[in-house]
Amino acid sequence: MSEASENFIAKSTVRSADLDHRRKINFNISQYNAKVPEGKLQFANLDLARETAKNIKWRAIETLDQQLEAFELNFTKRAGKVIWAEDAAQAIDAIVEICKTAHCKTVVKSKSMVTEEIHLNAALEKNGIESIETDLGEYIQQLDGEPPYHIVTPAMHKSKEDVAKLFSAKLGTAPNLTPQQLTLVARDILRKKYTSAEVGVTGANFIISDIGAVAVTENEGNVRLSCAFPKIHIVVVGIEKMIPSLTDLGLFWPLLSTFGTGQQVTVYNSIITGPRQVNETDGPEEMYVILLDNGRTNILQNPKQRESLYCIRCGACLNACPVYKNIGGHSYGATYSGPIGSVITPNLQNLGEYKHMSYASSLCGACTQICAVKINLHELLLENRHESVEQGLTSFAERMAWKLWKMASLKRSMMNLGNGSIKTKVVNSVFKGWKQKRSDLDFSGKTFNELWKERNKS
Ligand code: SF4
Repeated sequence: MSEASENFIAKSTVRSADLDHRRKINFNISQYNAKVPEGKLQFANLDLARETAKNIKWRAIETLDQQLEAFELNFTKRAGKVIWAEDAAQAIDAIVEICKTAHCKTVVKSKSMVTEEIHLNAALEKNGIESIETDLGEYIQQLDGEPPYHIVTPAMHKSKEDVAKLFSAKLGTAPNLTPQQLTLVARDILRKKYTSAEVGVTGANFIISDIGAVAVTENEGNVRLSCAFPKIHIVVVGIEKMIPSLTDLGLFWPLLSTFGTGQQVTVYNSIITGPRQVNETDGPEEMYVILLDNGRTNILQNPKQRESLYCIRCGACLNACPVYKNIGGHSYGATYSGPIGSVITPNLQNLGEYKHMSYASSLCGACTQICAVKINLHELLLENRHESVEQGLTSFAERMAWKLWKMASLKRSMMNLGNGSIKTKVVNSVFKGWKQKRSDLDFSGKTFNELWKERNKS
């Protein structure tokens, strides 16, 4: 068993028994569930909208090489700079170098899962650069020294009382502040950071190839401030975030907001085409877009798994997943959690180390049913399991157990061997590990043949 798998089992065992955690998650997800149906009403034909989005992403991913080159060509026309990063180390090196050249002491950062993926904050800190999260949820998580719990709502597992206590402990505020008061405290601190930071780092929800731009969606205005005040703006984005045309945003923006938070459209939607131009009065003097691979081309080269690159990170599949709702985001021990995390993490990182994530699913299909871009998530989870077996990543005991099971299942005479209590004893002792957290497998006293004969007689 890999270390990641052992940690996963340990953490999820504790979390699934934590009723307070479950209460908070259920409360927050119920708020989401109440809001989403309202947002969905804006679509005359929601199914067609999802299908169309899937087709657009299919086209973008199938022609990704051309789209990326077109993006680079168009973005650099307006003096933007593009950096291609094969892995996290290359992306970090590029960001640190830009910061050092600019004598940067402080970076203001918007919420971005891809910067979590490359562990940007830790790398900047190591280089003596302060990195401040400006999204309120991320700011709360940073204060608490925790990674985001959810890809859309990073502090979803905290109640307002938890946040008030955290602010009191870390910032010395009164322990009973209201959410409004807490927001004002954070705003006051962050405003000063925007104006003093030399560099702003953001992610991007979409890369638009035909106009050479990135599109960023947010509710707090912190992205706009992070890229408007500092002299340098760095965007870090996974190459799969591509959409071919500006006009595609007409579909993707409402889709992302409805499936992400239930809004018809998110409060701030920015299309950024480059640094400040000669005739413009604001914006950064330099702008970089770091196009990150970091395992995405592994997924691209696998025709079955490629579909997982269509994901627009709306988070809907996490909210629908019965496993996520019980074990929570941190138990996964990976940047991306829930169904989409369980699909992509083993392929982005290492199947041997992370294959357990694809087994952490009941395969109920709720994720596939809800997905904004109709990714067949539960089938991809099965495909990961299949690939791990094909690659010989299962234990000898497991392989033997299934071999025996198959042999027995294919031969009626073997199925009929022994009575129910013998089978119950044998199977439960062979599948010891499997039933550690499950009740005993209980075989019927009579075989199927016996029951069938009895039925036909009567
Ligand atoms: S897999 Fe689908 S539902 Fe899950 S985050 Fe991505 S787009 Fe949203």
